[in-house]
Amino acid sequence: MNGKTVLVTGASRGIGRAVALKLAGEGYGLWLNYRSSHEKAGELKEEIEAGGGSCLLLPFDVADFSACREVLEPLLAAGTIPYALINNAGFAGDGIFALMDEAVWQNVLDVHLKGFYNLTSLVLPHMLRKRAGRIVNMASTSGQTGVGGQVNYSAAKAGLIGATRSLAVEVAKRGVLVNAVAPGFIETDMLSGLPADRIAANIPLGRVGRPEEVAAVVAFLCSPGASYITGQVIAVNGGMFTG
Ligand code: NAP
Repeated sequence: MNGKTVLVTGASRGIGRAVALKLAGEGYGLWLNYRSSHEKAGELKEEIEAGGGSCLLLPFDVADFSACREVLEPLLAAGTIPYALINNAGFAGDGIFALMDEAVWQNVLDVHLKGFYNLTSLVLPHMLRKRAGRIVNMASTSGQTGVGGQVNYSAAKAGLIGATRSLAVEVAKRGVLVNAVAPGFIETDMLSGLPADRIAANIPLGRVGRPEEVAAVVAFLCSPGASYITGQVIAVNGGMFTG
């Protein structure tokens, strides 16, 4: 164990799960949030503990500030301050904008953007007091370029990129580094039902990405090697967007 704790949201499946396993392998203690996949989260906890790691499961809805506060405040007050916060929880609610009802718009903004506010506003003051910390926000290629059918998701992820850049400037002098990772198409439940072959044909590297390939970048951003990187958006997209 390296004595540092990392809080990963949306860690029961997909990219968050891969991030948790990678960081556990590097000796971090894990606080793992998810919403309702208790069985999957339990299996992940067992896997981490079997490898000698420590893991605390924290099921709550990141879009609900009261729920976040109820779980996190007592933990933070007890004295363990996460060295890193990985704002990863999320889902898409794709559809044609002209037909999109308000709930679909709002739910997507709430999980990505309000989720960022909810978690970060609870953890950041403690990082600032310690004058150390890393925040990694899971953005998306959709937040960097236009994608039809994802107006709500693009708005949320572009907002997250803006928040990343501004917060990085705000807290740099207090030793907290804030970056975003922008995955392209990554093989998780989020891609189920999409035509993998057609997608791969439009990616320069010729395939969709693996969650572990995103996790490696997140782990780097948490590492001592990333000590001069803040306010950046690191794309992990197989070359599909180079802007
Ligand atoms: P995923 O496999 O569907 O997993 C989503 C995770 O988020 C699950 O752990 C889920 O928990 C959790 N979650 C969803 N809503 C939540 C909420 N309100 N509160 C707490 N946890 C919540 O998705 P993924 O592909 O790994 O995506 C992870 C992140 O990467 C998302 O922010 C997504 O937008 C971003 N991303 C993904 C891709 C891609 O191609 N996969 C590309 C770009 C960006 P439960 O299991 O309990 O539901």
